[in-house]
Amino acid sequence: MSYAYDDQNIFAKILRGEIPNTTVIETEHTLAFHDITPQAPTHVLVIPKGAYVSFDHFAAEASEAEIVDYVRAIGEVAKMTGVDLGKGGGFRLIANAGRDGVQEVPHLHVHILGGRNLGRMLQPA
Ligand code: 5GP
Repeated sequence: MSYAYDDQNIFAKILRGEIPNTTVIETEHTLAFHDITPQAPTHVLVIPKGAYVSFDHFAAEASEAEIVDYVRAIGEVAKMTGVDLGKGGGFRLIANAGRDGVQEVPHLHVHILGGRNLGRMLQPA
């Protein structure tokens, strides 16, 4: 399987500094920023800096350093936003991928949502 990465996607432009974002944290391999259309009181997007289309692409081709950095950054954002189970009420991670996952931006991102009860995960089909 080869993954075609479109470097004109909006998150690639954010990473290049061509459009602004509201950064939550930045690490060596990861950037986290607030979603422009929040769907919950906490709605942060966490993206790797590398050119990965989706979670499966990242899992297959990212280095161990990138993977560790990314996962730790997600945990750190949960802490920083106060939704982590250390002190908050919990959260949901969503990583949409491809057509059936209804992924809008083709650069891997995890949504961290929380700050209210999010209801059941999926509506019945
Ligand atoms: P997807 O449907 O691909 O999982 O989610 C894409 C997310 O990116 C959406 O929640 C949307 O609101 C967010 N988004 C789209 N364009 C921008 C942007 O320019 N800046 C920020 N911060 N978020 C964006």
